[in-house]
Amino acid sequence: MQKVLLIIGAGASGMLSAVAARRAARKLGIADGLFRIVLLERNTKPGAKIAISGGGHCNLTHDGDLQGLLEKGFLMKNERRFLRHALYRFSNADLLELFTAFGLKCKPREDGRVFPLSGRAGEVLEVMQHMLEESKASVVTGFRADRIEASASGMTVRSGPASFDGDAVILATGGSSWGSSGTTGDGNRLAVAVGHRLVPVYPALAPVWFVAPPRADLVGITLRNPLLVAGTEAGSDSRRGDVLISHRGVSGPACLSLSRSVAVMHAAGKGAVRVWVDLFPGHDERSLASFIIDEVHRQGSRQVRTFLQRCPLAPDCLFLPDGVGEGWQSIPNAVVDEILRLAEIAREVTMSGLKREQRQSLVSILKKLPLGTVRKVPLDRAEVSAGGLALDEIDPKTMQSRIQPHLYCCGELLDYTGEVGGFNLQAAFSTGWVAGAQAALSLFEEPGRAPQTAHE
Ligand SMILES: Cc1cc2nc3c(=O)[nH]c(=O)nc-3n(C[C@H](O)[C@H](O)[C@H](O)COP(=O)(O)OP(=O)(O)OC[C@H]3O[C@@H](n4cnc5c(N)ncnc54)[C@H](O)[C@@H]3O)c2cc1C
Repeated sequence: MQKVLLIIGAGASGMLSAVAARRAARKLGIADGLFRIVLLERNTKPGAKIAISGGGHCNLTHDGDLQGLLEKGFLMKNERRFLRHALYRFSNADLLELFTAFGLKCKPREDGRVFPLSGRAGEVLEVMQHMLEESKASVVTGFRADRIEASASGMTVRSGPASFDGDAVILATGGSSWGSSGTTGDGNRLAVAVGHRLVPVYPALAPVWFVAPPRADLVGITLRNPLLVAGTEAGSDSRRGDVLISHRGVSGPACLSLSRSVAVMHAAGKGAVRVWVDLFPGHDERSLASFIIDEVHRQGSRQVRTFLQRCPLAPDCLFLPDGVGEGWQSIPNAVVDEILRLAEIAREVTMSGLKREQRQSLVSILKKLPLGTVRKVPLDRAEVSAGGLALDEIDPKTMQSRIQPHLYCCGELLDYTGEVGGFNLQAAFSTGWVAGAQAALSLFEEPGRAPQTAHE
């Protein structure tokens, strides 16, 4: 008798789950005609998010060993513990092998990010569509699932009056951010309605917007590798990395990584969340103060402004290089002016003309240059959403729901969040692979069997 696997969401995880399900079934000798795989997608085309990923270039995974990938890509211990099973079943190497077999050439960059050689996210999507065709999976577009119901032998997925019956369902509806790509948290609602628990959703990998926009002359500046800090009276969190000052607040790698924490602090409502940068991370106020005093002795007649303009930003060791060297950035002019303004030091003041209090406030500002007070971390501009379906209700080895035995869940819908660098797509691909393979195995074989690896 024909079995039917319904996959809700034709994104990264949903499409790969279809591919893995077909492979697992073929491996068991099940004829394609006896196993129907149907992807139900609300958009008019699959893979909207893949098409816009990586700024249109698609950073599809991250190079390196899996332990390193887990540690670099997932900051929370419980996320790493949950994802390690799926990543070891379907690793970054497995992913590249699969894509290469379908003709996609990829190249890792020096920082470990892997992109298609063509630099086109569209090519990744085309290759995935070929995979779906080869897997004989059908895609029903324009179907927005609004209810799933369990029965004794399977599940029904409904969209208004239309419905599909399946022996198993994979929920692969993605996260709750960047809603214009079709991800508006539907999966959370569908899963909660059948008994799942939801961990609160927050934006992550998002810009941070301020109550008052940054000063116009600071807009567009990128600060190379300072420490970006966000904090309230109750505590703070920080990240090292490039910071871009935008017309609404801040963005750039350090901000994207920190944004989840900022969103949580902001939602906690424990007072204003302020954002600042430490321009000399790794050097405390005392050593910075003595560096400045040394400079007063060395070049007392030099203007403070010139001293700051020559100062390397976020240096490993405190020194004034002879010239502008490669690999380091001096404090940008507009930031120098901002520092002088905040420290109440006139432009013409020389190093030896600095009063004691001015020196102290200069040191404090270099260590804590205020950028703004957080107004919002916009969910619709967040590359991913943190939170989602509680991980303890999903079996990490099979992606099967512990609440509904015919239900599997995968991808960003789950309560994990990767850093920027290809980690989110890899996690979606890996969890999708495991969900698809295991759903097929459970339909045609004894359910206890471990999910298929990429090499089986
Ligand atoms: C701008 C941007 C750039 C990004 N760049 C990268 C990158 O370079 N590298 C990286 O690793 N990650 C990147 N990400 C994150 C990554 O794209 C996602 O984490 C990943 O796509 C998640 O895969 P998924 O299968 O869980 O969900 P998605 O790929 O989002 O797929 C979910 C699918 O489900 C469909 N759906 C939702 N609700 C329903 C419903 N009720 N009924 C039917 N269908 C439904 C959606 O339309 C969508 O097609 C980026 C994200 C954004 C927004």
